Parts: sequence; C-alpha cells; structure tokens
Amino acid sequence: MTVTEGCAEALKAMQEAVGEDVMVTEVDAFVARCGCSGLVFMFRGLETEDVSDELVKTALKAAESVGLKPDVVYVRTVPGTDVVIDVGVRELCERCSEEFSGDRPRPDLRVVWRRG
Ligand SMILES: [Zn+2]
Repeated sequence: MTVTEGCAEALKAMQEAVGEDVMVTEVDAFVARCGCSGLVFMFRGLETEDVSDELVKTALKAAESVGLKPDVVYVRTVPGTDVVIDVGVRELCERCSEEFSGDRPRPDLRVVWRRG
C-alpha cells in the first residue's frame, strides 16, 4: 500500500467513525524535521466533546496501517474554543517526547491518548 492509498483508506474509515454531521476534509502523512512522524486528520464540524474512543481508535489503527508506532494522539483546537482543527497521531522523537509529556503541550493542543 502506498502512502496516499493508506491516507485514502484512513479518511474513509474516519469519516465512517464520525458520522454524517462532521466532515473529514483531509488526511496528511508527515515527517517533521525533529524526527517525529505521523498522520493528521483535518475536520470540519468537530468539537472536542465529539472526540470519541472510536475516533481515537480509528486514528491509531490508520497510523499503524501505514507503518507508524503511535506514541500520542492529540487534538488541535482553534485557540480559546472547542472547535477542532485537526487530530494528530504522532510517533515522537526524543525531544518531543518531553514536550508531549503533559496533557497540554501547547495551549492549542490536548493530548487524548498516550502509549500506555
Ligand atoms: Zn519531534
């Protein structure tokens, strides 16, 4: 499976997980300069209270299907609101492992899952 095929399947699975009222607009695979890698799901119409266990599970499964070993799942919101911009699944580099050790590594990020 290519990266884009994996992202296409992830988008489809996530859209099924969130239902018709929310739109999954895009799924991106990324590699950061620091060494982190992951998948990002972009949403329209999702709020933090809608981030269900099923959504998190779907994101984790999608990341694993493209060869990632996820360390965290986090939600990025419009600052000061509960409007979700995107949900990231990230395999952390050493430096970011520290940054992501708290529940709110940045004011706009909320960690919703961490490797146990
Ligand atoms: Zn990193």
